[in-house]
Amino acid sequence: MRIGIGYDIHRLVPDRPLRLGGVDVPAPVGLAGHSDGDVLLHAVCDALLGAAALGDIGSLFPDTDPATRGIDSTRLLGIVLERLHAAGHTVGNLDTNLIAQRPRLAPHQAAIRERLAALLGLGPSHVSVKIRSNEELDAIGRGEAIAAQAVVLLHPTHAD
Ligand code: MG
Repeated sequence: MRIGIGYDIHRLVPDRPLRLGGVDVPAPVGLAGHSDGDVLLHAVCDALLGAAALGDIGSLFPDTDPATRGIDSTRLLGIVLERLHAAGHTVGNLDTNLIAQRPRLAPHQAAIRERLAALLGLGPSHVSVKIRSNEELDAIGRGEAIAAQAVVLLHPTHAD
């Protein structure tokens, strides 16, 4: 089996959508970024790529590429999963931290977890999304950014 870790942080800015784990969260601010800024999916992609030693999201999808400007990050995750499966890996389980002082994300935790599980083709019992504030410390605590951490386990794909 293989284990991978991912981390990402994006600035909160006005006039951007707030999309987390592929779920649109209604909020007066959203996440800056070349893509849709889905910080949680970016951390998940990096954990998956890291576990398979297949590079990282920055090298796979450079933010200088006009083709990925504003792209829905679920499409990036789809490409990452294709690469993983081609390399003989299957996702076992995923654990994540979503770290935000604002907006309050607890009401969206279940929807984000279910969406993540669906995107990965896993049952909800294999996907965890833990919502954390930053105790009003640092840029996240001031409501200037949202960060995400992810850990995944991969196992070899078994031929049926
Ligand atoms: Mg990112």
